Amino acid sequence: MATDYSPPLSDINFVLENITDLAALSKLDGLENADPATVRGALEEAGRFMAEVIAPTNQDGDTIGAQHDGDASVTTPDSFKDAYAKFVASGWGAVAYPPEAGGAGLPWLVGLAIQEMFTSANMAFSIGPMLTQGAVEALLFHGSDEQRAVYLDNLSSGEWMGTMVLTEPEAGSDVGALRTKAVPNDDGSYSLTGTKIFISWGEHDLTDNIIHMVLARTPDAPPGTKGITMFIVPKYLVNPDGSLGERNSFKAVSIEHKMGIHGSPTCVMAFEEATGYLMGEENQGMSYMFTMMNSARLSVGLEGLAISERAYQQAVAYAQERQQGRAIGAPKTEHSLIIEHPDVRRMLMTIKAYNEAMRCVLYATAEAFDLSQHAADEAVRTEAQEYMELLTPIAKAWCTDLGVEMTSLALQVHGGMGYIEETGAAQHYRDARIAPIYEGTNGIQAMDLVARKLPMRQGGVIRDLLGRMATIDADLAEAGDDLASVRAALSASVADLTAAVLWLAEHGPNDPNDALAGATPFLRLMGTTLGGWYMARSALAARRQLATGTGDAAYLAAKVATARFYAEQLLPQTGGLLPQVKAGAGSLFEVPVSQL
Ligand SMILES: Cc1cc2nc3c(=O)[nH]c(=O)nc-3n(C[C@H](O)[C@H](O)[C@H](O)COP(=O)(O)OP(=O)(O)OC[C@H]3O[C@@H](n4cnc5c(N)ncnc54)[C@H](O)[C@@H]3O)c2cc1C
Repeated sequence: MATDYSPPLSDINFVLENITDLAALSKLDGLENADPATVRGALEEAGRFMAEVIAPTNQDGDTIGAQHDGDASVTTPDSFKDAYAKFVASGWGAVAYPPEAGGAGLPWLVGLAIQEMFTSANMAFSIGPMLTQGAVEALLFHGSDEQRAVYLDNLSSGEWMGTMVLTEPEAGSDVGALRTKAVPNDDGSYSLTGTKIFISWGEHDLTDNIIHMVLARTPDAPPGTKGITMFIVPKYLVNPDGSLGERNSFKAVSIEHKMGIHGSPTCVMAFEEATGYLMGEENQGMSYMFTMMNSARLSVGLEGLAISERAYQQAVAYAQERQQGRAIGAPKTEHSLIIEHPDVRRMLMTIKAYNEAMRCVLYATAEAFDLSQHAADEAVRTEAQEYMELLTPIAKAWCTDLGVEMTSLALQVHGGMGYIEETGAAQHYRDARIAPIYEGTNGIQAMDLVARKLPMRQGGVIRDLLGRMATIDADLAEAGDDLASVRAALSASVADLTAAVLWLAEHGPNDPNDALAGATPFLRLMGTTLGGWYMARSALAARRQLATGTGDAAYLAAKVATARFYAEQLLPQTGGLLPQVKAGAGSLFEVPVSQL
C-alpha cells in the first residue's frame, strides 16, 4: 500500500517565486518576515511535520472516524489527539495571523501553502483548524476589544477550536431562511434557541473549549439576509479570569453518517436558550460572513488541489508497481509496468497538469488578498481586491470539481484495486466529494461569477484580465517552436473566453435565465483558460531558469512539458464549452417536470 505523502515543495516554491511574487510581498509593511529564503526553510519544516505527524492519521480518520457516544459527546481517533497536540505546539496553524492575533505575520499566501500540505495530509482533520481560522478572522474584523481579549489568543494558538454555524434544515444555500432565535437578556447577552445541522467539528474531544460563531435572528429582525446577526456562543462560558465556567445550554444531538471525511464530525446541534454574545452589530451577520467568505472559499478550493495531489502521488506509485500487458515495443517475454501504457500516462499527466494549474490559480488568489491588505498604494490595493473577488468563485468551484474528477482518475489508475478500500484510493475520492457542496455549492459559485463578478466595474475587471492574458502572446512567440502549441491553444482559449464574456454581457441583462443556464460551463471555461495562462507563464519562467542554469533542470524541463500537455490536451475543451455557455435556457426547460 502506498499511502505516504511527500510535500510537493519544488512546485510550491516555484509557484511562490515565479507565479506569485513572494519577494515583492516581503517588502510590504507587515510582511517583512516573509523573505523567500526564510519561507523556503519554514515550508520544508512544515512539510516534514505534515508528512510525518499528520499524514499517518488519515486512514484512522476514515476507518475509525468521529463517534457520537449517544450522550452529546463526540470522540475522535486516538491518533488525532496526539497529532492535534503536536499541531498546536508546532504553531503551524498561526503563521499567517498578524502578531496582534498571536501569529507570525507571514502572508496569507504562505499560510495557504502550509494549509495545502496540511489538507493533503488529512483533509478531515484540517477542517477543524480551517474553521477556527474563520472564527479568528471574525474576531479580528468585527469583534470588540473585550471579545478579542477573551477568545483570540486561545483560538489562534489552537488551544480552542472555532466553528461556523449557519445551516438549518430549511436554510442551506438560502441562508436568509434561517430561524434560530436570539432574545436579548438584561445583562447584554442573548439567549439562542434553534436547531442547526451539518455543523463541522460542532463537538469533539480535541480542545477544552469550542467557540461557535452562530447566525441567528433577533425578535424584530427584518426577513431574509438583512435580519441575520452573528453571535459568539462558547461551549463553556469563560470566567473573567480566563478560566472555564458553566457549560452552555446546547449540545450535539447526533453526528451524520456520511460518504467521506469521516474524521470530521458533522453535527446536528440543538440550542436551548444558549448564552451568546453579539458580534459587532445586530442584523450585520451576513455582511460579516461576506468578509470571511473569500478566505473560506479559497480554503475549500484548496481542498480540491490538496486531495488531488495526495491521490496523484499514490497513483504514480501504484503505476510503477503494477505490471500488466505489454507496452508497445517492450520485449515479447516481459510484462510492462502500467505506467508505460499511453492511457495510464494520459491519466497521470492529466492529474499532474491540473494540479499544477490549480496551485497557480489558488496561490494567485491568496497573493491578491495579501496585496489588497498590505500594498502601500491604494490603487494597487483596490485592483488586488477586485482580482481576488473575481477569482474566488473559480478557485472554489473549478478546483473542487477537479478534485472530484482527479481523485476519480487516480482511483482508475489502480484498476479494481482502486475500488477496494484497502488501497486508500477510494478514500480520497469519497473525501473530495464534499468540497463542491459546502461553503456555497459550485452552482452558487457559478451564479456569483456570472451575476456579480463579471459585472464588477462595468466589466472592467474581467476586461483587464483578458488584456493581461493577451500580452503573453509576444513572449510565447519569442519562445518559437518549443512553445508553439502553447501559444496556439492559449490564444484560441482566450478568444473563447472573450466570446463567452461578450455573449453573457449582451444576453444576461435581458434574460438572466439564459445567462444562469450557462454559468457552470462558463466557470469551467474561465477556470480552464486561467489555468492555461498560468501554465504558459510557468513554462516561460522555467525556460528562463533553464537558460541561465538556475534551479533543478529535470523539474524545470518537466514543467515546460507539462505546460505543453495542458495546452494540447486540456485547453481545447474551451472550444466545446463556448457553445454550452451560449445555448441559453431554452432546452433546459423544454422538457416538462412531469417528464424529468
Ligand atoms: C459534510 C458537511 C459539512 C458541512 N459543514 C458546515 C458547517 O460547518 N457549517 C454550516 O453552517 N454548514 C455546513 N454544511 C452545510 C453546507 O454548507 C450546505 O449543505 C450547503 O450550503 C448546501 O445547502 P443544502 O445542503 O441545504 O443544499 P440546497 O441549498 O438544498 O441545494 C440543493 C441543490 O440546489 C441548488 N440550488 C440551491 N439554491 C439554488 C439557487 N438559488 N440557484 C441555483 N441552484 C440552487 C444547489 O446548488 C444544490 O445543487 C456542511 C454540509 C456537509 C454535508
